[in-house]
Amino acid sequence: YRVVVGMGTCGISAGAKQIMETLQRETAARGLKNVQIVPVGCIGMCTYEPIVEVFEHGKEKVSYIHVDDRIANSIVSEHLQNGRPIAEYTVDGGEDGAPKNLNDSSFYKKQVRVVLQNCGSINPEDIQDYVAMDGYQALYRVLTEMSPNEVIDVVKASGLRGRGGAGFSTGLKWSFAAPNQADQKYIICNADEGDPGAFMDRSVLEGDPHAVLEAMAIGGYAIGATKGFIYVRAEYPVAVQRLRLAIQQAKETGFLGTNIFDSGFDFDIEIRLGAGAFVCGEETALIASIEGKRGMSRNKPPFPANKGLWGKPTCINNVETLANIPQIIRKGADWFKGYGTEKSPGTKVFALGGKINNTGLVEVPMGITLREVIFDIGNGCPGGKGFKAVQTGGPSGGCITSVNLDTPIDFDNLVAIGSMMGSGGMIVMDEDNCMVDIARFFLEFTVDESCGKCTPCREGTKRMYEILGKIIEGKGSSSDLAELQDLGEHLKNTSLCALGQTAPNPVLSTMKHFNDEYQSHVLDKK
Ligand code: SF4
Repeated sequence: YRVVVGMGTCGISAGAKQIMETLQRETAARGLKNVQIVPVGCIGMCTYEPIVEVFEHGKEKVSYIHVDDRIANSIVSEHLQNGRPIAEYTVDGGEDGAPKNLNDSSFYKKQVRVVLQNCGSINPEDIQDYVAMDGYQALYRVLTEMSPNEVIDVVKASGLRGRGGAGFSTGLKWSFAAPNQADQKYIICNADEGDPGAFMDRSVLEGDPHAVLEAMAIGGYAIGATKGFIYVRAEYPVAVQRLRLAIQQAKETGFLGTNIFDSGFDFDIEIRLGAGAFVCGEETALIASIEGKRGMSRNKPPFPANKGLWGKPTCINNVETLANIPQIIRKGADWFKGYGTEKSPGTKVFALGGKINNTGLVEVPMGITLREVIFDIGNGCPGGKGFKAVQTGGPSGGCITSVNLDTPIDFDNLVAIGSMMGSGGMIVMDEDNCMVDIARFFLEFTVDESCGKCTPCREGTKRMYEILGKIIEGKGSSSDLAELQDLGEHLKNTSLCALGQTAPNPVLSTMKHFNDEYQSHVLDKK
């Protein structure tokens, strides 16, 4: 038996460490030699944590959910010792008496796991598990068979767009940095995931850290960089610990370091911890932070591809973007384009949260509709409540109402309906949520996170926040609503960086779609 325990931060916070210990202790006490217990990253369905899955050669896996000590003991005594899976502890309580696995549930049916293919199945703390899944083969091919330009051409041809929010072509980004001559170039992995409700990048780093390291080495070779940095939030201790271990193991095994695969290519990666400032997700602020300066954005140009970290050509890619790269190299651009839409190929990982039954990490092909994600995968709102809206793109995005539930999800469609892809947070609101309150929640976040460098964002977000407070307290008037709208438009047009330019989005989009709720709060109602 191979028994996996979901040990992402989600699983650990639900008690998975103790479950792991119980399973280890009980199998040892019973002298079960044919059992391998493996910690894995997030299995996906966070709402069912702690999750334990039992694999047996030639049989369907069995997924145990909400596992506590008592269930863990039963798994060992019944399933692992006597070969009798326990249906009642599996999904749907084994309604028909048959043990179930999560792959049969509606949560997984419409998902396509590309980025998450190893998350929840391999041990992220053992490089051999990654190698067994063809890990580092793409790097081998790149270094032994391809020129840097050929690598860039494949990535360009795949149509991969940056998953951090902006959706810029990754191949094109690499092609900007590649021709710049310099004694040193850098590739940076942006793991400064900071949106409320977003945990996609954290889960990838916790569940499959080597995929990101391999991609960085491939990117480094493509653009001519020998040094990489991973800028990751210090609030992600599990991800940081697994990344450190992964880097150490990759160096010991010769996948990082000098003369990799006898190709003459050297590549090293260091970790830099961010102190949790949202603005450091913006690339120029992130660069300043790695340089040891205060994390503040600056005007572009010069662009990092020309003048980035310590003034050297630098390429910055997000975690999820990078995690696609090894498979694109191994399986080809056409394979990647087989998923998604013409302009947004591939898949997208979303962190599904808020008022939704199936909270968790989902990966879907681009082009799927919001309705499918929220109702088929997410199973709608709890308690039979009506769906009201979904916020995509976090504090930079906007809310989408039921009118647009059938819109196919891709970078361009979400912008067209007044929101944005962002990095992948998806927060669902039900009929009980006050949308003015939701707008204030997101604005409070940006007020806190504004770096203060430019006046429109520093002062404007505060004034908008104050006006929203006044409206919520029932002391506002229609002139306050007009001022809110006016300030929002000004912030969008005059702020220095994307944080300020997008900060008004949650307010403006809720004002547009839920004008009646705003009107009902003000004294001189229309
Ligand atoms: Fe700083 Fe906001 Fe201006 Fe960006 S827009 S530079 S976060 S004050």
